[in-house]
Amino acid sequence: MRVALDVPLPGLFDYRSDCPVAVGTRVIVPFGRRRMVGVVVETPAVPALAEASIKAVEQVLDDLPPLPADWLALAGFAAQYYQRPLGEVMLPALPASLRKVSAYQGPRSAGGPVQRSDKRRPAAPHAVAAEPAPGLNAQQAEAVHAITAIQGHRTVLLHGVTGSGKTEVYLHAAQPVLQRGGQVLFLVPEINLTPQLEQSLRSRLGWPDAPAALAVLHSGLAEGERLRAWLAAQRGQAQVLLGTRLSIFTPLPRLGLIIVDEEHDASYKQQDGLRYSARDLAVWLGRDRGIPVVLGSATPSLESWYHAERGHYLKLTLSQRARQVELPAIRLVDTRRLALQQGFSPQLLEALGARLERGEQSLIFLNRRGYAPVLSCASCGWVSQCPRCSAYTVLHRAAGRMGAGHRQRLHCHHCGYQAPVPAACPDCGDQDLRPMGRGTQRVEEHLAEFFPQARIARIDADSTRRKGSAAQLFAQVHAGQVDILVGTQMVAKGHDFTNLGLVGVLNADAMLFAHDFRAPERLFAQLMQVAGRAGRHVRGGEVIVQTDYPEQAVYQALLRHDYTGFAQYSLAERESIGLPPYAYQALLTAEARELAVALEFLGRARTLLQELAAECGAALSLYDPIPLRVVRVANIERAQLLVESRHRPSLQASLARWMPRLPDAADGLRVRYQLEVDPLEI
Ligand code: ADP
Ligand code: ZN
Ligand code: ZN
Repeated sequence: MRVALDVPLPGLFDYRSDCPVAVGTRVIVPFGRRRMVGVVVETPAVPALAEASIKAVEQVLDDLPPLPADWLALAGFAAQYYQRPLGEVMLPALPASLRKVSAYQGPRSAGGPVQRSDKRRPAAPHAVAAEPAPGLNAQQAEAVHAITAIQGHRTVLLHGVTGSGKTEVYLHAAQPVLQRGGQVLFLVPEINLTPQLEQSLRSRLGWPDAPAALAVLHSGLAEGERLRAWLAAQRGQAQVLLGTRLSIFTPLPRLGLIIVDEEHDASYKQQDGLRYSARDLAVWLGRDRGIPVVLGSATPSLESWYHAERGHYLKLTLSQRARQVELPAIRLVDTRRLALQQGFSPQLLEALGARLERGEQSLIFLNRRGYAPVLSCASCGWVSQCPRCSAYTVLHRAAGRMGAGHRQRLHCHHCGYQAPVPAACPDCGDQDLRPMGRGTQRVEEHLAEFFPQARIARIDADSTRRKGSAAQLFAQVHAGQVDILVGTQMVAKGHDFTNLGLVGVLNADAMLFAHDFRAPERLFAQLMQVAGRAGRHVRGGEVIVQTDYPEQAVYQALLRHDYTGFAQYSLAERESIGLPPYAYQALLTAEARELAVALEFLGRARTLLQELAAECGAALSLYDPIPLRVVRVANIERAQLLVESRHRPSLQASLARWMPRLPDAADGLRVRYQLEVDPLEI
C-alpha cells in the first residue's frame, strides 16, 4: 500500500500489510528510526517494490472509519495546487491526537483518543427557529430565494453593505439544508468573531442546549475540544460547523452548503506551512460536492468581484442597512494645516465629547499596537533598532498602567526580541530619549487625559493575549461598560455594536503608500469595515478620518460608500498593468544567513524555471530576485522571486516541473525556501 506521511519529501511511501486495508485508513508505520501516523492513499494491486524489500505496517488504526473519498480529493487538490507533498497537507489537517503515535502506543495511550461512548445519535433536524427572526426585507428575501433555488453547485457573491443583515440571509439559506438533515460549513475569519455568532446561531436555530448540533473549530481550542468538534462534524452529529480557515479540512459527510463570511479577509490565507486560501478551497469544495457556496462581504476581494462581474459567480446585492438607520456620514479631516493635539484633530475631539455627553460609545481605530513605534534620541537621532532584524523596536508599556514609574520595554514585532529601555542614548549618552509616533497604548493614555470621566478600553493583540480575554473585553463593550474603545483591526470587523455612534480613524495614511499593489484594496476594505461599526442601531452615525491626502481615490470612494466605483477603478488599473486577477502569481521566498546566498539561489531557480517554461511552452513573466522589505528577521536574510502568468494552467504546469528541481538550484548553498501560490502580500 502507499502511505502519505508528514515529511518534507515528495511522493508516497510503500508499506505492506497482511490484511487488506482500505484507502483513507490511518496506520502507524516505521519511518527511519521513528514511527509515524500516515494515511493510506493507494492500494495498488501490484506493489511498486518487491514485497520483501518493504517494511510492514505496525498498526492499523480502526478507531475511526477511513477518511472519506471527498476529503482525500480535497487534500489531493490542495497538495497539487499549492505544490506540497500530500502528507504535509493531510496529516496537519487532522486534530493532533489523531496523528500522534503516542496517542495509540505507549503506557498512557489507553486505546487511542477516540472514545466510543461519544457515538451519540446524530441530532434530529430542527425545523423551527427558537428566537423570532426579524422578517426579511425585500432584498434579503430575494437573496435567500436565489440561494435556496440553486440546484447543484453555484458560487454566490453576496455583496451587502455593513449592517445590511447578511447573517440573516445566511441563516435563512441554511434552514432548508438543515431541515433535510444536511450540514452547513460556516467559515469566519477570526476567533474573536465566533462567540457572538455562535450564540446567535444557537438561539436562532433552536439549539441552546444541544452542544453537539453546532460544533465550533478554531486554533485557539484545547486539543481535546478540537478533537470533539472534529468528531462531531465527521460523524454528522454536528449540523453546523462554525470555524476559522482550518475547518475547511474537516470531513462533513452530509455537507449541503458552505458560507464564507467576510470573504475578503486576509485571515482566510494560511501564512505558513501549506499556504492555502480557505476561501478558494471552499469554492473548489463546493464544486466538487455539487453544492452552493456563499461568499459574503461589504467589500469583496477584487478577485471575487471580478468573477461576479464576469458571471462566473452569481452576484446578489443588499444595498440598504437592515435596521432603519442610514450608513454613517463620513468626514475627511485634512490634517495638513491643522494643529493636532497628541495626534487628535479638534474636530475629532469635539465629536468624541459630544458622543460622551449623549451616552453613546465611540471607537478609535489605529492599526498600530504598543506605545510608540520607535524610541529616539533628541540630540543625535539614534533610533531603537532590533539587533536581529532590519526593523525598529516598538516601545511598550507593561500592564498595570496606573501607579508610579511605568515599566517600559522595547519589543520587536518581527522576531519577539525584547529589551529594557536604555537609561541613556547608547550612541551619545544623552538622557532625553523620546517616543516617536503613537500606538494604541499611547492613544489610550491621551484619551484618558482628554476625557478623565470616560471609561476607556483597548483591544489589540497585547490586551487580548490571555485566552478568553478578547471575548471578555467585547462583552464589556456590548454591555455598555465602555465609553471609548481603542483598537486595531481586531475591532474593525464583524461586530454588531448597538450603541456605537462615532468612529475615528488615526494614521490611515501609513497604509496608503505601502508598496504592495494590494495596499489600497486592503486599506479601503478596512476603512469601510471599521466605518461600518458606526451607527448600526443608533441614528446619526459618524466617521471621522484624519488624513494628509483627502484627494486620494481610496478616501474619495469611502466618502461616498462607493465600493463599486472603487472596484471598477482598481480593476481597470490592475488590467492595464496585468496584475491579479488578470494574472496569476507564485512567490518563491529564500532564507539564508547571507543575503547573497539567498539571491544566488533565487537566480539559479529563475534560470531553471526559464528553461522549464520554454520546454513546456508556458508563457511566464519572471521578475528579478529582490530582498524582502524587512530583509533580516532573527538574523536570517530573506529574498523573493515573483513568477507571473496570464494563464493559470501554464503557471501550474511550470511550477509542478520546477518544484522537484529546486534542490538542484540549492545545491551547495545553505538556504531554505518555500513556494506560495496566489500570494496575498508581495
Ligand atoms: P452585516 O453582517 O450585513 O453587517 P448583520 O447581519 O450584523 O449585518 O445585521 C445588522 C443588524 O440588522 C443586526 O442587528 C440584525 O439583527 C439586524 N437585522 C437583520 N435583518 C433585519 C431585518 N430584516 N429587519 C430588521 N433588522 C434586521
Ligand atoms: Zn543620542
Ligand atoms: Zn527582531
